[in-house]
Amino acid sequence: MAADEGFRREWIDKDYYKDLGVSKKADAAEIKKTYRKLARKYHPDANPDDKKAEARFKEVSEAYDVIGDADQRKKYDEVRQMAASGGFRYPGGAAGGPQGGFSSADFGDMFGGGANAGGGQGGFSDIFGGLFNRGGGQRQPRATRGNDIESDVTLGFVDALTGVSMPLRLSSEGICETCHGSGARPGTTPQTCPVCGGSGSRVHNQGGFAFSEPCDACHGRGVIIEDACPTCRGAGVAVQTKTINARIPAGVKDGQKIRLKGKGGAGANGGPAGDLFLRVHVTKDPVFARDGKNVTVTVPVAFDEAALGSTIKVPVPTGGTVQLRIPAGTANGKKFRVKGKGAQTSPPGDLIATVAVAVPADLSDDEKAAIESLREARAGADPRAELLKKAER
Ligand SMILES: [Zn+2]
Ligand SMILES: [Zn+2]
Repeated sequence: MAADEGFRREWIDKDYYKDLGVSKKADAAEIKKTYRKLARKYHPDANPDDKKAEARFKEVSEAYDVIGDADQRKKYDEVRQMAASGGFRYPGGAAGGPQGGFSSADFGDMFGGGANAGGGQGGFSDIFGGLFNRGGGQRQPRATRGNDIESDVTLGFVDALTGVSMPLRLSSEGICETCHGSGARPGTTPQTCPVCGGSGSRVHNQGGFAFSEPCDACHGRGVIIEDACPTCRGAGVAVQTKTINARIPAGVKDGQKIRLKGKGGAGANGGPAGDLFLRVHVTKDPVFARDGKNVTVTVPVAFDEAALGSTIKVPVPTGGTVQLRIPAGTANGKKFRVKGKGAQTSPPGDLIATVAVAVPADLSDDEKAAIESLREARAGADPRAELLKKAER
């Protein structure tokens, strides 16, 4: 089975149209529009610490991954249609099937297209085998989507502005890489279960009805592993530690959660990989701060610079300085915008420089004399005159 033919067993149970709130006949543009609206509404950034919103965000993302992709949607629709037509009934029926119906053991029977699909379940697996398991015959492993992984990452202040590629070590439970999920030691082959003949289930008659149950001998797997894989001891699943290269986009904020599609746990048997959800932490900077995609900085200016106007040097977060022209009569606290020197998003954010008039505390005698002559020259100019007038009752 080619990787892109993978379907997922959860498709049977999940109504992605309902999750997105669109009709089954919705066109691609409508699905995309609805997804965007919902993704914005439930995005973890907009709903900090809201578990419900986070769950909805994942649900909506998952739905869009499938029905937002023309190929996947076509397969999903086929699977759903077969399910609706009754094709996916649990073979054991009311007698002793797992509640609600699709454990991994019984699912194999339905999708396996097994050589010995016994008794009651007959024709259906042939239809499905024809669709998805080219070649049929031997029992085929299920395509399963990999797990979503959540992780934390800490970025430097500048890396958060520019974006960065960084290696991340992740641990997750996934398909065993030593045996590729077969559970058998590499070089050995699992043997078809002699009890069930590989179907993973046993059929017996009771009162004229055929019932099927997972096979005891092979626990429903359809195979017996004589020489177990040393990594996973036959389970086919193991904790994997892998290092991925994560591309963190420019402009991420402290506490933001980002989703890296396909960077989660590996899928099994051609199934797609899960997603990686990263919670980003950004270290503080002693000079600069963030305001969305803008960067802020406070720049001291001398009284004469503010009064007479000047060109001052302003530091830039990514290094170096820019020349900033401040006009005569600049008030304390006035903000100046240096275009494009904030987060390197597209379009980029700006650097917002706030001037702070510095008052010297260590005046020399000459300086003192100069300021005293300024006071004399401005005698009669009361800076509080307007304030006091306004405050008169
Ligand atoms: Zn293994
Ligand atoms: Zn068996």
